[in-house]
Amino acid sequence: MLVSRSPASLALLIAAAASVAGQTAPTHGVRPARLIIRNATVVDGNGTPAKGPFDIVVEGNTIAQVVPLDPVATSRGTSRRPRADAGTVEIDATGKYVLPGLINAHAHLQDERGGVPQPIQYELDIWLACGITTVRDVGSDTKKALAWREASANGTLVAPRILVYPQFGRPTNADSALARVHAIKAMGADGIKLLGIDRDIMQVMEAEAHKEGLRVAHHVGVEETNAWDDIHFGTTSIEHWYGIPDAAIPDGVQNFPSYYNYNNETDRFRWAGHLWREADPARLQMVLDSMVARHVAWVPTFDIYEASRDLQRARTQPWFADYLYPALEEYFRPDPKNHGSYFFGWTSTDETFWKENYRIWMAAVRDFERKGGLVGAGDDAGFIYEMYGFGLLRELELHQEAGFNPIKVIQHATFNNARILGKEAELGRVRQGFKADLIVVDGNPLENLKVLYPTGVDEIRDGQAVHTGGVLWTIKDGIPYSGPRLMAEVKAMVAKARER
Ligand SMILES: [Zn+2]
Repeated sequence: MLVSRSPASLALLIAAAASVAGQTAPTHGVRPARLIIRNATVVDGNGTPAKGPFDIVVEGNTIAQVVPLDPVATSRGTSRRPRADAGTVEIDATGKYVLPGLINAHAHLQDERGGVPQPIQYELDIWLACGITTVRDVGSDTKKALAWREASANGTLVAPRILVYPQFGRPTNADSALARVHAIKAMGADGIKLLGIDRDIMQVMEAEAHKEGLRVAHHVGVEETNAWDDIHFGTTSIEHWYGIPDAAIPDGVQNFPSYYNYNNETDRFRWAGHLWREADPARLQMVLDSMVARHVAWVPTFDIYEASRDLQRARTQPWFADYLYPALEEYFRPDPKNHGSYFFGWTSTDETFWKENYRIWMAAVRDFERKGGLVGAGDDAGFIYEMYGFGLLRELELHQEAGFNPIKVIQHATFNNARILGKEAELGRVRQGFKADLIVVDGNPLENLKVLYPTGVDEIRDGQAVHTGGVLWTIKDGIPYSGPRLMAEVKAMVAKARER
């Protein structure tokens, strides 16, 4: 499989045929007036196959032209290579793949872990280096998040685009629920994040959120509400998963042991590993059908639970060596005070139940999409051994494991996420008129999603071992960022913090 590189070979021929004179390389972090990405093989975000090559012209922060260079287009004379005038910057993408910038639909802006400071730039740099050009923040320090959103938008902060969905909190009556919706609207947030809400409050707040044009993301835990409430009240996206199998349990409640305490996280996560098996398969299909009918999307965040099925894997991820910030490393250690750090007495039996849990869950996500449901991708990193950015790339691998073609997997993290965010007219595509959020990948992600990792992959070429892969350029809002340079900065940041 690794021998076939036909799109790249075609691109090489075209590169040779039409020489590009006087290339000016982009400057990291500086938006040029005009940027041409030459000779790119494109995987668009809309679920269509790879195609190309193309010259992609970016003017300011917009994709101005996507010019086909394939033999049919050029022989018809329908296609003219755009010229580089003075001031045009170029990226030679010969043999490279260009995708829409990835969108992380479930992110948390974190400038501390467990009360220990962690520079926000650490997380932002890794996100960009992993090809992420937009994040939806679903719970952080809202005031800071809104300021970072603003700074990112005006180009003063090196960061993906940020959408802010503040945590709704737990109002206890209808009046305070309405007041909370209005307060969130007044602060200019993009949506609302729900967690652990009572049904009557959810009904009132969702109706008001719809009136105010605020989207609702629901972390549907094991709580009073479940997926039926999301279906009835019109939630935009279900985050994670618990409330979906919970809605399909015949007795209405999981068969917990008598000693179970939800607020004991070891209990909570251990027994969550038994939840999917208790869902009645026929009822589950009804729940999925109803989610589809009422346009409730699903952001499953497979990656954030993976430690539960394979703890050793989670604890020994290779990027920890150079890139794990000490505050985050400390936060990951088992500690009842830290959310998600619940690994006390984690057994082979727990992992076995969780492996089965994943099988049923993955099949449900696949069924959901086959029925017409909208599947998104987010990583929830900063918890449970998941690092920012790397977590979303792992999420893509897990979507592939769930049975999705890598083309669909990329769609989940680009155009599907754009739809979930209500940004489908501007983000998630390599299309004229869309925002210039693009990534240049050294390798074919349809062959191996691992080429997206900043740490790269090893291959044999002509008998020689070569280290390759990674996102070479992340272009966000027309601003090119060098992936390797960002990761060098992250490495230095981590090394410095470890000295203390
Ligand atoms: Zn989360």
